Amino acid sequence: MKKILILIILLNTGAITPETVGKIKEVPILCYHNIFEKEGKPGPYYISAQLLEEQIKYFKENGYVAVLPEDIYRSYIYGLPLPEKSVMFSFDDTRKDHYTLAAPLLEKYGYKGAFFIMTVAIGKKNYMTKDEIRDLARRGHCIGNHTYDHQNLKKLPEDQWKKQVEEPKKKA
Ligand SMILES: [Zn+2]
Repeated sequence: MKKILILIILLNTGAITPETVGKIKEVPILCYHNIFEKEGKPGPYYISAQLLEEQIKYFKENGYVAVLPEDIYRSYIYGLPLPEKSVMFSFDDTRKDHYTLAAPLLEKYGYKGAFFIMTVAIGKKNYMTKDEIRDLARRGHCIGNHTYDHQNLKKLPEDQWKKQVEEPKKKA
């Protein structure tokens, strides 16, 4: 989904022409939500820390390099090459377990991830605090905007754009 969104944005800005689309390197983007350590039920939005580690380990053992959104952007806009085997690990929704479980697992294998923050949740129960988000950035992870309160941007009225996209970017 993110890959499609990034492509659509780039197409809309004219950075990429329809002729060049076929030549763009495709990067698998893995999108995770809730991660649980002991109790939890696997599902589309839940994964155990154990399985997450197995997946990260698979990419490491198979020679993949974890890239971040800025790497993909630079590749699309300026033509900078991406590693032959690129993958992106992304985490949505500001969950506390991204800080306690996901980031340490990525780092164990020398990887960085992209964490998409919905700013309304910062500091709430089971969600990351401002300091934790700042710490992830300090450790080299990418912090991205996931709107103020998790809106579907495809359906967002124009007068909401400032609240959902512009203002959350100023939060840090
Ligand atoms: Zn989300």
